[in-house]
Amino acid sequence: MKVVKFGGSSVADGKQFEKVAAIIREEEARRLIVVSAPGKRFAEDIKTTDLLIHLADAAAEKKDYDAELQQVIERYTAIVESLSLPSQLLAELKAQLISLIETYQEDHPRLYDALMASGENENAKLMAAYLQQLGEEAYYVSPEEAGMVVTDDPGNARILPESYEKIAKLRERSGRLVIPGFFGVSKTGHIVTFPRGGSDITGSIIGAGAEVDLYENFTDVDSIYSVNPSLVEKPHEMEELTYREMRELAYAGFSVFHDEALHPVVKKKIPVCIKNTNHPQAAGTYIVDEREQRGLPVIGIASDKGFISINVRKYLMNKEVGFGRHLLHILAEEGISFEHTPSGIDNMSIIVREEYLNEEAEKKILERIQKELDVEEVHVERELAMVMVVGEGMAKTVGVAAKATTALAEAGVNIKMINQGSSEVSMMFGVNASEADLAVTSLYNACFAKAKA
Ligand code: ASP
Repeated sequence: MKVVKFGGSSVADGKQFEKVAAIIREEEARRLIVVSAPGKRFAEDIKTTDLLIHLADAAAEKKDYDAELQQVIERYTAIVESLSLPSQLLAELKAQLISLIETYQEDHPRLYDALMASGENENAKLMAAYLQQLGEEAYYVSPEEAGMVVTDDPGNARILPESYEKIAKLRERSGRLVIPGFFGVSKTGHIVTFPRGGSDITGSIIGAGAEVDLYENFTDVDSIYSVNPSLVEKPHEMEELTYREMRELAYAGFSVFHDEALHPVVKKKIPVCIKNTNHPQAAGTYIVDEREQRGLPVIGIASDKGFISINVRKYLMNKEVGFGRHLLHILAEEGISFEHTPSGIDNMSIIVREEYLNEEAEKKILERIQKELDVEEVHVERELAMVMVVGEGMAKTVGVAAKATTALAEAGVNIKMINQGSSEVSMMFGVNASEADLAVTSLYNACFAKAKA
């Protein structure tokens, strides 16, 4: 049995629904279907989830929300009309949206979650109806019915462990089950969404619960590329990568598969295959527990911007027992999670994501570090990017660091920080954000283009 998830662009209009149905019907094993909300049909289009956020904005401000509601309904109308589905489905959809607004208008976090979730919920109903129309035994299954019980944290749901037992029972059901992605239901019966892009997470949870043989994740690219394809012409395509490699790349901006979606499948060692709805005959990229080491030691290069470094200096820091603990304790008390802590003998830096550190928190943290740790210097460095060179093969290959630093030096990129964990799955370079793209392309050329030549 397989779980098959279709992303927003794969289910954006009637034509895409036809492609999706053909893919599903091609294999008996494609029985658990997870769908996103209708995504972009062309570059300037607006995702249905974003239209739903506009609707929630208007409803929360108690404005007349007719125009926003109409925009959402138009997206579904186009699908219903193109596939000649019963128009009754649209009347139900409209009534459902109005009822959600009436229920949650005074509770804004829940209003946003309920409306955003309806994007996938209504699309799953349409997909089930379309498969039925084609003669398939297909059912819409709500996340509640599927057993997706989540924490009550709007916009940031986490699956509760007890869900898996219930989800396992989906195996016993007949036909194809169409489940909306992106949300679950809390113990108190409320709709709670995962973070944005979270339909991948639903696919992974359903796959892990039902212990499927494969999680096929259909999107709009033929494979995962070794580098951002907007930076390099015809980048190397990956056939296979491990969960650990994917995790590192996702951390640094590879958005093809949500970084929180790996966890459930990793535990059960379920392979994931990234495939293209618009070109399903392409082999795709497999994300697996272990892979044979052949070819190049590096599998991908990624970079992410928006980091800040808090740099601390104190003479004889290395001899002061508990210094690091105290420093990190200050961050923990201020509710700031840190990303990395590169250090020297008398200095230590804490890298945090800019979005987590507002002006007020920053001021307070700097004051506390100065006062409580009596440091000689503490200052903040902004606009940093982390560039990651990823590949399990690096552990067994001598000279990757030399090659990487040479490439950066030749490109004139100043390395501000180097970090490599003991697993040697990745090597990380902190550089100025303005030099991140140059760093990535020069590393790519050194590790791939030149290596192949
Ligand atoms: N529709 C949601 C979003 O746009 C979730 C998803 O597509 O995975 O974030």
